[in-house]
Amino acid sequence: MHVLEPKERIKSFEEIEKCFTKEQAMEEANRCLQCVNPECIKGCPAGVNCKEFIQKIREGNMQGALNTILLENPLPCFTSRGCNAEAQCEAKCILGKTGEPISIRALERFAVENSEQKKINGDTGKKKVAIIGSGPAGMAAALELKKKGVNPTIMEMQDNFGGLAVNAIPGYRIPKKVTEEQVKQMQEQGIEMKKNFKVGENQTIGEVLQNFDAVVIATGESSSKKIEVKGSKLTGIISWQEFLKKYSHGNGNRLNGEGKKCVVIGGGDTAMDCARTALRYGYGVVIAYRKNLEFMPCRKKEYLEALEEGIKFEYLLQPTAFIGKQNLEKIKFEKLEIKKEEFVPTKEKIALNADLAVLAIGQEFDESVFKGSIMQGKPLKEEINETELPGVFIAGDAISKNKTIVHAIQSAKNAVKEIQKFLKEGKQKKAEATLNPFDVLLGA
Ligand SMILES: Cc1cc2nc3c(=O)[nH]c(=O)nc-3n(C[C@H](O)[C@H](O)[C@H](O)COP(=O)(O)OP(=O)(O)OC[C@H]3O[C@@H](n4cnc5c(N)ncnc54)[C@H](O)[C@@H]3O)c2cc1C
Ligand code: SF4
Repeated sequence: MHVLEPKERIKSFEEIEKCFTKEQAMEEANRCLQCVNPECIKGCPAGVNCKEFIQKIREGNMQGALNTILLENPLPCFTSRGCNAEAQCEAKCILGKTGEPISIRALERFAVENSEQKKINGDTGKKKVAIIGSGPAGMAAALELKKKGVNPTIMEMQDNFGGLAVNAIPGYRIPKKVTEEQVKQMQEQGIEMKKNFKVGENQTIGEVLQNFDAVVIATGESSSKKIEVKGSKLTGIISWQEFLKKYSHGNGNRLNGEGKKCVVIGGGDTAMDCARTALRYGYGVVIAYRKNLEFMPCRKKEYLEALEEGIKFEYLLQPTAFIGKQNLEKIKFEKLEIKKEEFVPTKEKIALNADLAVLAIGQEFDESVFKGSIMQGKPLKEEINETELPGVFIAGDAISKNKTIVHAIQSAKNAVKEIQKFLKEGKQKKAEATLNPFDVLLGA
């Protein structure tokens, strides 16, 4: 697979990885041993039958390959670009024990780009399910429900559809047009999608449930964690969420970082993407992380790509103040050290010059979706996609321990299984759930 060189890729938001050519795809597919007990399938969180789709590519049956993938994974347009396949399906490939594993993700991409997406002709049943959130979990839930003959309606609070796939993951990994095309296909298949509609504000969950047979909360983790230290309101300090929503696809020349410094605070994949986005606008970028490299939670691939693009790293730094008159000029940090496996302050202070600070220290579930309803909490266990309110289910980053697209997809599939059971046997439960929020609001 052709990959853009660092010098080339930092000039724009062009996709870094290019799709296999037919010759490359055939050569790679032909390396597959077609194991009797393929481990790669077990490595895929969505259970894609890698062996079978690779065999179909070998036979030149690209549509068959895509159909095999779609049986378990309704959104290969995202996973074939964004999956951490090196740690999933490809990590299990037996060829990896002695040499290079099969590039399963790249072959998945080849199948997607060389066939038509399958139209879902689910029988349009009478049951209706509302899905709150249009990210990968909400989209996957809608597609899976449609397959089962249930009518989904997506409600999205933003002015666009796709969740983090379009509002955070930069265009160099998943171009905006990929999400837009997926949304268009879903709308053409009759999936209703409402934007600028916030549950907890425009309607409560209870009100939504009045008009639907069930509800799926697929709201992700849409609240950014904050750093409350002196100066945190200065101009030039921005959350990862706001920064990536505005700039992660290279929107014209609205941000000019030439000759300026950006400090990204954090050490996860989100911090890497913020840094690499700022770099593409011309900033000199430093990532300041409170632990050391060994503890940095980002994927190794993301770290290495950031490093080769020219991002600098500073470790064991805890921010203590943002300095400037109106605009940010410097960030003060206290140095930390490791003592008995704990990171403790040393009292040593350092300052980094910064015109822009991007805070990428994490995100959390936003409970405002429950506003006005009796529902208070998420289920405690990830495996349980049901909530305490009958008829209300939950999927994706909002509940998953592993916060990736493929895990969001698998979680949505599990939620749909639970919904199907509920729709078969849940009439009584639905009635209770519909009445409950209003009983409480009216003090009944
Ligand atoms: C910078 C960054 C890079 C990433 N890169 C990758 C990657 O390369 N590969 C990968 O696999 N994963 C990646 N991830 C993780 C991946 O994006 C998430 O795991 C995935 O998007 C989760 O899907 P979701 O649908 O659960 O949540 P989200 O994508 O967060 O979607 C939730 C949606 O719900 C909407 N919403 C929230 N509250 C309400 C409400 N009350 N009413 C209506 N709508 C609401 C939100 O606006 C949002 O559109 C990345 C994440 C980040 C932040
Ligand atoms: S969805 Fe991801 S983990 Fe599964 S086969 Fe595709 S690339 Fe591998």
